[in-house]
Amino acid sequence: MIGAGIAGLRAAKDLAVRGFEVVLIERSPFLGGRTALLDRVAPTGEKASDLVSALAEEALRDPAIHIHTCARVVGFDGYVGNFNLVVRTEPPDSEEDQEKLKRVSESGKSTDEFIPFVGVFPGGIPEKVEEFTVETGVVVLATGFKPYTPRKGEYGYGEFEQVITLPEFIKKVSETRGKGKVLEIEGRSIRSIAMIHCVGSRQIPGIHEAGESGELNEYCSRTCCTATLNAANQIREAYPGTRVYEFYRDIRTYGRGQEELYNDASKNGVVFLRFEPEEPPVVTPNDRPEEYPLKVTVKDTLTFGEEFDVPVDLVVLAVGMEPNAIPDLVEMMKLPVGADLFLLEVHPKLRPVEISVSGILLAGTCQAPMDIGEACSAAGAAAVKASGILGRGYVELDPFVAEVDLEKCKGTGACVEACLSEGALKMVEMEIGGEKVMRAEVFPALCLGCGACVAVCPENAINIKGWTLKQYEDMVDMIVADTVGQ
Ligand SMILES: Cc1cc2nc3c(=O)[nH]c(=O)nc-3n(C[C@H](O)[C@H](O)[C@H](O)COP(=O)(O)OP(=O)(O)OC[C@H]3O[C@@H](n4cnc5c(N)ncnc54)[C@H](O)[C@@H]3O)c2cc1C
Ligand code: SF4
Ligand code: SF4
Repeated sequence: MIGAGIAGLRAAKDLAVRGFEVVLIERSPFLGGRTALLDRVAPTGEKASDLVSALAEEALRDPAIHIHTCARVVGFDGYVGNFNLVVRTEPPDSEEDQEKLKRVSESGKSTDEFIPFVGVFPGGIPEKVEEFTVETGVVVLATGFKPYTPRKGEYGYGEFEQVITLPEFIKKVSETRGKGKVLEIEGRSIRSIAMIHCVGSRQIPGIHEAGESGELNEYCSRTCCTATLNAANQIREAYPGTRVYEFYRDIRTYGRGQEELYNDASKNGVVFLRFEPEEPPVVTPNDRPEEYPLKVTVKDTLTFGEEFDVPVDLVVLAVGMEPNAIPDLVEMMKLPVGADLFLLEVHPKLRPVEISVSGILLAGTCQAPMDIGEACSAAGAAAVKASGILGRGYVELDPFVAEVDLEKCKGTGACVEACLSEGALKMVEMEIGGEKVMRAEVFPALCLGCGACVAVCPENAINIKGWTLKQYEDMVDMIVADTVGQ
């Protein structure tokens, strides 16, 4: 299991319950991933820390789950039923993480109310770099997402200190919870907040500029409308003196209990202003900065294009989700990546957690934007698929794989060069007629049956079982004979 966010933890627990040993490899020092950074989550209003704690504690207690934090995969080979992963653990890079880890391991529990609260690896902090190999039949990828980082100047981000992202806002609000009736952030009273939707999501060629990834995020991030409305409701309920304005293109609160958050926001006096993607709101310094530092100007389509200037203390950008960058894993494991840069399943409906590499499964937001419930459902599905493979104890191979005719093979190696699947074809030394020679050997578990090797062999020494060259030649002969005979 690679990644110990909510999806990785869920899948690990589901596999352990079915009697399988799980090695959980997490690159950060803590468990819980991005969920651990949230406050009260939509649509249920539960504390994110309660959700993660429950699952993380179960995982930590379970003798079948072996957790390695500050760990990453640095080597990989094998095939379904027989993968080898080289895992490296090393001390955390950031001094902040090292400090937090020290505090937690010295006290035996979290000393930080927000994060991290549980889940520090009980073995302590890795003090030096260590490597070990994990042998496993199945790999589940649960490497998650990162919030979109706005470009400098995008809605004033990086230019005005009063422009922050939704994850930053959630953290700040959670830190001020219960500290008075007026919302204060960094010593400033917040009387008016603008929340701008679809930042870094639903980007349109010709209108938007690409962010860090260099690609336009044309997809909807699905969770940000709900998360924004959830935050807006919490503000209006806890701080009725703070006005909240939502600048949106469409509201997409699609899941159970989420439309209710939209209705609640209307009842709570949240003001909605709708903009066209071609005319997004503009954040500039307010004309009377002594009253409010910023203003947000928008052409509101709900009032047939009337232009409004909304003076605010804070602008919150509802940033979208991007997949965590895992180029090393993509390269090592030959993972399929979609046009949106998320990992790509075989079929979105019929095989939603499998990828084209047999034995590697997907769980959670490494595959697409999902909320916590959906990430856990995907994790459950991956665990069921994994236990199906592991429980059988054997793997059925595709019968249509390459086969070398050793009587014809002269050891040119052309097939190995053409092979699309690393390790499927190798040149090996063997003894033929008392002589040591190099000959091609197929490794059926890794062979894709693509036929690239067949096309290049000058000796016609390699064939796909069931689709031999001889069979093709006979078919062509029959077609020709048939056509000539007509
Ligand atoms: C601002 C915001 C608010 C949200 N609010 C809500 C809400 O109210 N309700 C809700 O249901 N959902 C909400 N979500 C969505 C929620 O955060 C996600 O659904 C959830 O975190 C997905 O979990 P995950 O395990 O798929 O990924 P993550 O939480 O991203 O976990 C992935 C884990 O994998 C690890 N990892 C990554 N790469 C590697 C690697 N190469 N090797 C080892 N480990 C690796 C990471 O360190 C991390 O621990 C919100 C999201 C955002 C951004
Ligand atoms: S969920 Fe809402 S804010 Fe997020 S990208 Fe989709 S429409 Fe925009
Ligand atoms: S059929 Fe394709 S994958 Fe298999 S050995 Fe030949 S080139 Fe490699």
